[in-house]
Amino acid sequence: MTTLTFDSLNPATGTVVASHPKHDAEAVREAVARAQEAAEWWEGLGHAGRRRRLLDYKAVVTRELRQLAALVHEETGKPVADATLEIVLAITHIDWAARNARKVLGPRRVSPGMVGANLSATLEYLPLGVVGVIGPWNYPVFTPMGSIAYALAAGNAVVFKPSEFTPGVGVRLAELFAEAVPERPVFQTVTGLGETGAALARDPRVKKIAFTGSTATAKRVMAACAENLTPMVAECGGKDAFIVDADADVEAAADACLWGALSNAGQTCVGVERVYVVDAVYEPFMRALSERAATVKAGEHYGPITMPGQLDIIKRHIDDATKSGRTVAGGPDSVRPPYVDPVIVEDVPEDSPAVREETFGPTITVRRTKDAQEALELANDTAYGLAGTVFSGNRRRAMALARAMRTGMASVNSVISFASVASLPFGGTGDSGFGRIHGADGLREFARAKAIARQR
Ligand code: NAP
Repeated sequence: MTTLTFDSLNPATGTVVASHPKHDAEAVREAVARAQEAAEWWEGLGHAGRRRRLLDYKAVVTRELRQLAALVHEETGKPVADATLEIVLAITHIDWAARNARKVLGPRRVSPGMVGANLSATLEYLPLGVVGVIGPWNYPVFTPMGSIAYALAAGNAVVFKPSEFTPGVGVRLAELFAEAVPERPVFQTVTGLGETGAALARDPRVKKIAFTGSTATAKRVMAACAENLTPMVAECGGKDAFIVDADADVEAAADACLWGALSNAGQTCVGVERVYVVDAVYEPFMRALSERAATVKAGEHYGPITMPGQLDIIKRHIDDATKSGRTVAGGPDSVRPPYVDPVIVEDVPEDSPAVREETFGPTITVRRTKDAQEALELANDTAYGLAGTVFSGNRRRAMALARAMRTGMASVNSVISFASVASLPFGGTGDSGFGRIHGADGLREFARAKAIARQR
């Protein structure tokens, strides 16, 4: 039974936004039981019924855009414009998943081949049942919706556990769904910390866990999932590299690099953290980058660090980088809790924590390389593998470099642009996790392939 509550705080002011129940293991079990029953009804609606209702949900979320953005602003501290953008992107996912589920998952004949010539072969993707979604606080609408919309469109019921820092918006997303689909609790939110997510991952009736968060937590969730052989998607952190090639447009590259590093105060899994610049354009690129960085200030252009504990990591990385490298912008004084001004440091040793660990703050390290090949090798010398960026004037070389980056996603002459294309799969490799959300791969992630061969 749920007996306790916890407060969500505005990270910029420290004031309480709202109180939320700490759902314990029993409350989670009850939610899963309700979801199981709702899943049967939802599956029974078929693709056409679910599509209609998901488009109704899209309309309700669109209607509530301003209120949702205000709530995200309160809970994370990010500017309202940024909050609005993440919700708009989330809406594109609801739309894409709703409109494409039948095409991607519906039954189809497949060629039986020579050996099976006397067979009629059919493939379709069926719902799993109940899907548990465990989300982070940095993009509390866009990120979980990349799993929730696809799991729902694939015919599953969802129990969502938002981060303890952003419970209010998580609750609101489910309330809005209940407005569009009042018949059954197809999408529920449970709130809490520690115990709540673990209870969801451990419940044998949950048929898949879609987790987004740190690599360390992903390992704990995976251990809980292992108890019941529950499959999971792990969307974890990153240490994304940004390569500037010899013939790149350095002004455009500097704009993109800074935006990729500073938006959401650097609290972006696919944010730019390491920059490798080919010798031929090093000086002009650094000039353009530092000129721009000098015009940006935390609190004016981007918000605070949402999670107080993250400030210690950011500070440790800035201290480490500025001691061992050459400071180009900012420095240890850039940390003004809860804000951190931009910090750029060059020539930080590649084995230092500031280069190897996820910082999750508005800081970047920059290194000069002799050519694009060296830049690529350094970019790939990481345990992570989420996304990367290449700026180059040569389209063929840019595409070859983007392909050769050991990541799930890449951008060429743009930054983080893959995230705005709903049909592109999203996910990483190595310590950045496994499995894919978004697009057709995202729909299949929340379904089981069913193969039927019939004797003719
Ligand atoms: P986190 O601390 O790992 O937490 C993520 C979620 O897991 C939270 O909802 C948390 O709930 C829950 N949780 C914690 N312990 C658990 C357990 N034992 N069992 C089940 N659930 C548990 O991550 P975060 O600080 O919220 O998010 C930042 C991280 O997410 C960064 O590393 C970032 O790169 C990554 N991220 C990745 C992507 C991507 O798509 N690849 C997108 C956004 C963010 P509590 O409320 O209890 O903490």
